[in-house]
Amino acid sequence: TLVLDDLHVRYANAAAPVLRGLSLTLPLGRVACLLGPSGCGKSTALRAIAGFEPLAAGHIALGGEVLSGPGVHLAPERRGVGLLFQEIALFPHLDAAANAGFGLRRWTRDARERRVRELLALVGLDALAARMPHELSGGQQQRIALARALAPSPRLLLLDEPFSNLDAATRDGLATEVRGILRGAGQTALMVTHDPDEAETMADWIGVMAGGRLVEWRPSRAAASGEVHCPIDPLPLANP
Ligand code: ATP
Ligand code: MG
Repeated sequence: TLVLDDLHVRYANAAAPVLRGLSLTLPLGRVACLLGPSGCGKSTALRAIAGFEPLAAGHIALGGEVLSGPGVHLAPERRGVGLLFQEIALFPHLDAAANAGFGLRRWTRDARERRVRELLALVGLDALAARMPHELSGGQQQRIALARALAPSPRLLLLDEPFSNLDAATRDGLATEVRGILRGAGQTALMVTHDPDEAETMADWIGVMAGGRLVEWRPSRAAASGEVHCPIDPLPLANP
C-alpha cells in the first residue's frame, strides 16, 4: 500500500506551503489518477514521493516502509519507484534497447538482454530495438521510456502527464495500451493528468486535488461499473 499521510511541502522561496495536508491511501496493484487545477501541487506530490522534495511534515510509506518522514529521507534511487514524465528524456546516443535497459546496468548481460526483450515486447516495440531515439515517433519514444521505467520492476510507478506532448490520436491509443500493461502487470501506479476522460480510462481510483490537499477520492467509472475488478471499498478521506 502507498500511504501519503498529511504531507506538507514548502518551497524555500515561497510564502505558503504548496502541499498542505495531502493524504491518500492506494492499495498495491491499483492505478490511481490525480486531477486538479494547474498549480494545486500534483507534480510536487509526485516529486515528494520520488524523493526529490523534502517534507516539512507528514510521512510517505510504501509497503510498510517509511520513505520520507520525521528524520527519514530515503534517497530517490533506493525507493523502488519508477518515473515517467511529460518530457520524454531518452538518452540520444543510446539505441532503444540500451535506453530500455539503462536501469539494469548492474544486471548480468544475459539477464539484462532477456529483460529488455521482454519489456520491448510488452510495449510493442521489439522490432525497433536497434533504433536511435531520433528515429522513433514521440509515442514510440514514450513507450521506450515506459519500458525503461518498468524494467527494474518498480514497486510504484509515477506518471506526470506522460501523454500530454503527444497528438490526440496517439494519446488515446497509448492510454488504453498503457492501462492494459499496468493492469496486466499488477503495477501500482499514480498518474497525474489534466484530462478527466484519460483518468477514467486509466484509473481504478480517481483523486481530485485542490490547494495542496485531496478533496475527492472515488472509484473510476470503470471500477464502479464492475468492468474493472475493484474489491476494496472507497477509502475515507483523511482531510475532507
Ligand atoms: P500543473 O497542472 O500546471 O502541472 P501542478 O498541480 O503540477 O500544476 P506544481 O508543479 O506541483 O503544480 O506546483 C504547485 C505550486 O508550487 C505552483 O504554485 C508552483 O508555482 C510552485 N512551484 C513548483 N515548483 C516550484 C519550485 N521549484 N520553487 C518554488 N515554487 C515552485
Ligand atoms: Mg504539474
